[in-house]
Amino acid sequence: MRKLNHKIKNNFGYEFIYTPDHPNSNGKGFFAVHRLIVEGVIGRYLKKTEVVHHFDEIPGNNKKDNLVACENENYHRIIHQRLRAYKSCGHANWKKCYICKEYDAPSKIKTPAGRNRSGFHPECRKNFYRKRAKENGIDPEISKKMWSQDGRRPGFKNGVYYNRHSKKWIGIN
Ligand SMILES: [Zn+2]
Ligand SMILES: [Zn+2]
Repeated sequence: MRKLNHKIKNNFGYEFIYTPDHPNSNGKGFFAVHRLIVEGVIGRYLKKTEVVHHFDEIPGNNKKDNLVACENENYHRIIHQRLRAYKSCGHANWKKCYICKEYDAPSKIKTPAGRNRSGFHPECRKNFYRKRAKENGIDPEISKKMWSQDGRRPGFKNGVYYNRHSKKWIGIN
């Protein structure tokens, strides 16, 4: 039988503790140490949708002040996004242009609403359309209309579409 409080580490470096009485322990009786510690601090069980973030991004560092409780995965993702920005350019609130891959002030990066919210420099996207149009020998304005809002996926627009296999625009005279 396993001893209570026996700790193991998984392949990602997260620690688990043998605590079979915990309502959310796994089938083998283990529960994530970082979650257990946060639960001790806030005085209740964490919901399954709540996520614990490691401030220094070291999964094995489960000191209280290294743990941040996030209400859900979305919130957690934003923390990581801001961390990446801070590490890359020194500004947590700067956004990345998916075309040139550079970070820039939020006022310089356009972020379309909707499912795909990758930001871009308007100038980068204009160049992207021009280049795309040139490659395909078509009018840049028509090319722009054929691409979906995020500028990455070819879409059915105005009766034309891009065939990935033949690498041709279909429906253009
Ligand atoms: Zn995290
Ligand atoms: Zn750019």
